[in-house]
Amino acid sequence: MGLISFKDLHLDEVHDVLGGRGLLDRGPLIAEQAYRGVHGQFAQRFADIRGLSHRKVARLDDTFSLRALTLESVHEADDRSRRYVFRLDDGGVVESVLIPRHARWSLCVSSQAGCALGCRFCATGMLGLKRSLEPWEIVDQVLQVGRHAGVRVDGVVFMGMGEPLQNEGAVFQACRVLSCREGLQVSPRKIQISTAGVVPAIHRYTASNHRMDLVFSLVSAVPEKRALLMPIQKTYGFHELIDAIRAYAASRPKRHVTLEYIAIKDLTLGDDDIDAIREHLVGFPFILDVIPLNPVEGSSLETPGREEVRAWTERLRPLGFPVKVRLSAGQDRLAGCGQLGATLL
Ligand code: SF4
Repeated sequence: MGLISFKDLHLDEVHDVLGGRGLLDRGPLIAEQAYRGVHGQFAQRFADIRGLSHRKVARLDDTFSLRALTLESVHEADDRSRRYVFRLDDGGVVESVLIPRHARWSLCVSSQAGCALGCRFCATGMLGLKRSLEPWEIVDQVLQVGRHAGVRVDGVVFMGMGEPLQNEGAVFQACRVLSCREGLQVSPRKIQISTAGVVPAIHRYTASNHRMDLVFSLVSAVPEKRALLMPIQKTYGFHELIDAIRAYAASRPKRHVTLEYIAIKDLTLGDDDIDAIREHLVGFPFILDVIPLNPVEGSSLETPGREEVRAWTERLRPLGFPVKVRLSAGQDRLAGCGQLGATLL
């Protein structure tokens, strides 16, 4: 029988596997000990876990593998954020970004190697899709960064490489593992999944009982501009997406929905953009996260000046919704939004 990847599993599933093989005869503690060791102490071998007898280590080694990504390099930016580059077993590369938030740490993780959606402002999109990640490959980004940086990651954002809702099963399983009580204990409320607008998956999510937050890459509120920037709009139209976002917002009446907006020079900071926001968005609780475009080689899109972004966002204030300007972490180390994978181009 082949080995099962331990980092793919929630504690309950580890129990089930061990129980199914008759290996829980000394009580369930072997599962808890192993889980705490791998997810809490970042053990890389069962033999390194304190308090596990040789017999238990042998049982675990006969049942599970502790497959791991290969950490290739770490790039620290002036703002203390760090870009981590990982090599996959099949030679692919994914990146994660550790972001300091006051006394806490968030990790921006990748859900795919490359991306099929080809957004025009994004280096990952220029790579095309290599493949989707398995749950353990997502979970291991968090484990390895926590181990390397010596920090407890308490927030996870799926805003790295890939469209998470095109890898739903693996992403949701990874979220289960990350929030397990004996593991990393990342609250589902501190997990954000950012989507470019895979409408059927948004509806499925709305109908589910998942507790993570969806975040929407609106990018532009003018349908024609958004279509130019995000080819996915040919598949799922602008109004279809807005309807899906409204239904999602209605299903979570106590929470604001975050819409990400990309500030692009001479493109998304006009009067028509304000009119479109007023026409299409006002009427449900949302926060507009305005992200100035991060430069990507090979793209003709330009970054606006800070003053231009500030002046434009000031003009949104009378519309009555919160607006935040979010400067991406780690731009000087190609760790900003839209920059992951830039070194692979
Ligand atoms: S912005 Fe997201 S969805 Fe679009 S190409 Fe980049 S990784 Fe893919």
